[in-house]
Amino acid sequence: IPFAALRPQQPDALLALIAMHRADPRADKIDVGVGVYRDEAGQTPVMRAVKAAEADLFAEQRSKSYLGAEGDIRFAGLLTDLVFGEAKPESGRFGLQTPGGTGALRLGAQLLARAAPLSRVWVSQPTWPNHAPTFAEAGLATLVHPYFDLESRGIAFEAMLDALRQSRSGDVVLLHGCCHNPTGTQFTLEQWAEVAALCNDRGLIPFIDLAYQGLGDGIDADGAGPRQLLNAVPTALVAYSCDKNFALYRDRVGALFVQTGTKNLGDIARANALALARSLWSMPPDHGAAVVRTILDDNELRSTWNEELDRMRSRLNRMRAELAAAHSALAPIASQRGLFSLLPIGAGAVAKMRDSHGIYMPTDGRINLAGLNENNLPRFVDGLLPHLEQSAGVAQATVAVG
Ligand code: PMP
Repeated sequence: IPFAALRPQQPDALLALIAMHRADPRADKIDVGVGVYRDEAGQTPVMRAVKAAEADLFAEQRSKSYLGAEGDIRFAGLLTDLVFGEAKPESGRFGLQTPGGTGALRLGAQLLARAAPLSRVWVSQPTWPNHAPTFAEAGLATLVHPYFDLESRGIAFEAMLDALRQSRSGDVVLLHGCCHNPTGTQFTLEQWAEVAALCNDRGLIPFIDLAYQGLGDGIDADGAGPRQLLNAVPTALVAYSCDKNFALYRDRVGALFVQTGTKNLGDIARANALALARSLWSMPPDHGAAVVRTILDDNELRSTWNEELDRMRSRLNRMRAELAAAHSALAPIASQRGLFSLLPIGAGAVAKMRDSHGIYMPTDGRINLAGLNENNLPRFVDGLLPHLEQSAGVAQATVAVG
C-alpha cells in the first residue's frame, strides 16, 4: 500500500492556536481566534430553544430508523422559506439536508463536477480557507478574484467585477451570503444587483455560502441580497449552515439548495445529488436537523430562538461599535457584520500581541468579535493600539476550522 507516496500535511493552525492558548497561564488571556459565538461570559452555550426542542424529541421520538439520502424533508422545506422567502413555489428548485454547511459545499461541488467537470470556481481573496480545498477535492479548478480593499477595509468591488469579467461561461462564483469570513464585509443590495447582472451577462453560476444568516442584521435582512440574486438568475446553488445561527456546531446541520430553472433539470439534478450523497455519507446525521425542524415548526420555540439570535447579534454589533471607536484605523469594523474582521496588522504584530498581552488570533489578523466582552475589551485595545500605526498587507488566511 503506497501510503509512502502521501505528502506530509500542514498541522491545523487553529488547533495549534487553541493548544497555545490553553497552555498560557495568564488569567486575563484573550481568545479571538476560534470561530464560534461566545456570550459575555466567554461561553458558547446551547440555546434555550435547542434545549427545549431536544427535550421534545427525547420525549416523542419513536424511531431512529433510516430516513434516506435527502435527510429530513420538512427541515429542508422550512429552511427554504428562510432562504428564498415566501416567493412563488419554484418547480426547478430542490433542497437536501447535508452534514453542515461544509457538506452542502462539498455536495454542490460534486454535483457541479459531475455536470460540468471543466467549469472553474472563483473564490474571493481572502476567503474561508476550506473553500478552495473543498472544490479542488471534488476535481474542480479554483481561481481567486480580488475582494478586499486594504485602504478602505471594504470590498474592492470594481476589481472583483473586472476579474470576473475574465470568467468563461459555465464558471462558478462562490459568494458569501452575508458576514464574509474573514473580512466581515457584505455586498449592498445595489452590489448584489450588479453581481446578478454580471452572472447573467457572462453565464456565471453563483454558489452562495450562507453560513451566518441572522448574525449580521437579522434573518430577513441577511437573506435579502441572496434572495434578490436568486430571483434574478436561472441557475444557482446555496450552501446553508445552521451551525452558527442555531449554535449547533458539532451536530453538523446544513442544507444544499439548487435552482435549475426548469422542472426537468431540477428532477435530474436532484436525482444526481442524491446519488452523490449516498456515496459521500449515505444520509446526513439526523439529530441537529430534527432540532431545527422542531424549532421552526413551533411558534413559541421559534420566537425564543429569534430572541436568542437577536441578543447574540446585538452583542456582536455592540462589540464592533466599541472596538471601532478605539482608533480611527478600526472605524470600518463598525459597519462590518458577523463574527469576523481582519485587523490592519501583520503577522509580526499578531505574535507580539500574543507575547505581551496573551491575545490569541491567527496570523492573518482575523479576530472573532465574540471573543471580546466589556471586561476584556480595554486590555485587547491596549495590546492592539501600538501596532495600528504600521499598516499591513492581508496575509493568506491560515485557519481551516470555524
Ligand atoms: N462557510 C463559511 C464561510 C464558514 O465560516 C463555515 C464555518 N466556519 C462554513 C461554511 C461551514 O460551516 P459548518 O460548520 O456548518 O460546516
